[in-house]
Amino acid sequence: MSAPDSNLPRRVVLLGATGSIGESTLRVIERHPDHLELVGIAAHSNHPAIIEIANRHPTVRHVALFDGGAAKEARSSNGLPNGVHVSTGMAGLVELAMLAEADIVLCAVVGVTGLEPSLAAIRAGKDLALASKEILVMAGKFVMAEAEEHGVALRPVDSEHNAVQQCLANHPTSDIARVVLTASGGAFRDRPLAELANVTPAEAMQHPNWSMGPKITVDSATMANKGLELIEARWLFDLQADQCDALLHRGSLAHCIVEFTDGAMLTHLCPPSMTFPIQHALLAPLRLPPADDPLKLTESFALDFEPLDRERFPLLDLARDAMRTGGTAPAAYNAANEIAVAAFLAEQISFPRIAAIVEQTLARLDHFDPTDLSAVITQDAEARRVATALLAGN
Ligand code: NDP
Ligand code: MG
Repeated sequence: MSAPDSNLPRRVVLLGATGSIGESTLRVIERHPDHLELVGIAAHSNHPAIIEIANRHPTVRHVALFDGGAAKEARSSNGLPNGVHVSTGMAGLVELAMLAEADIVLCAVVGVTGLEPSLAAIRAGKDLALASKEILVMAGKFVMAEAEEHGVALRPVDSEHNAVQQCLANHPTSDIARVVLTASGGAFRDRPLAELANVTPAEAMQHPNWSMGPKITVDSATMANKGLELIEARWLFDLQADQCDALLHRGSLAHCIVEFTDGAMLTHLCPPSMTFPIQHALLAPLRLPPADDPLKLTESFALDFEPLDRERFPLLDLARDAMRTGGTAPAAYNAANEIAVAAFLAEQISFPRIAAIVEQTLARLDHFDPTDLSAVITQDAEARRVATALLAGN
């Protein structure tokens, strides 16, 4: 990891600039103009937002829009400042991730699309701030091996993992007994189980604490998000499956509990705003004023923790089983979940069917230890095919 204070401002490429994490990242960058500079931005197709961001940040010289039509619109609209280069497709994302003038790439593209650009950033020796947890779930073995080979430290953006990293400080993995991630419980934490079959996507979007993109908000309601995060933690902190667990914590003020081998437990507190972990990921070890107000210690607040209801949240144990099985099982879990969540959001299936589709996909596939990345990519495609067939009732 390069020393940030010897190289300021840190020049940032932001993949997923128009999303929820993208928006919080822009607030952090705008809070610290002497320390952070945006040099490249990418999105899928939201070209009006990309044009607006590029005009707000004249330091942006490179833009990527995955969708070819949107890239064409951005070029022909004359909205971009003069000289801004527009690229497209996966090649465009990869080009941005390797940008010579960038110090750090923040990947916040939803789903596994960010895998190739993240690997490109690592191979180019960039620091990688990672929000897209699906990448580590699918291909943690290969991403971590590449990071080690290229001497790149991954900087977790996910709030729980960022919290764990801050609690760990310089402790070796051998000092960790257990890492416990907290979960708010999502939109349906108190809904009678019998009603879950009838809940709507709009209701699933009503997260009690966090404002996030649609996919992760559904994942919070099913607890697949915490399942994905346990697998993410396993890779980031080199843990065994049984060292990773989760607890319900309704307030989302404490983001993890790290239990050390001597019984001591550390937690990390901050309000539920992604600007806190994003700022840490972009600037650590530098500590600067936050973009949002920190917790007010002059007001009372509760730190309550409860065991998670395994019956309400079957996707949590399915993730732990996939993690124990290892190999391609977590990739299949993630792929099936992406297909099922998209179907739920499109009102094609009921909420409880999400977990059923994931469970049945995992049961239908053979899981194996992949020897290369292409084997994982093939299994990801196979899991998507099986999950899609299950949606059609086959
Ligand atoms: P959003 O849905 O709000 O935003 C997704 C972003 O990804 C948009 O900028 C979108 O562009 C872009 N995108 C989607 N597909 C592509 C593509 N093929 N090529 C380039 N860009 C693409 O998601 P979030 O910000 O909520 O989440 C992003 C990631 O961060 C996810 O992996 C999530 O799990 C993770 N995360 C999010 C947290 C949160 O608080 N939101 C917390 C922790 C992790 P466009 O606007 O054009 O569609
Ligand atoms: Mg999280």
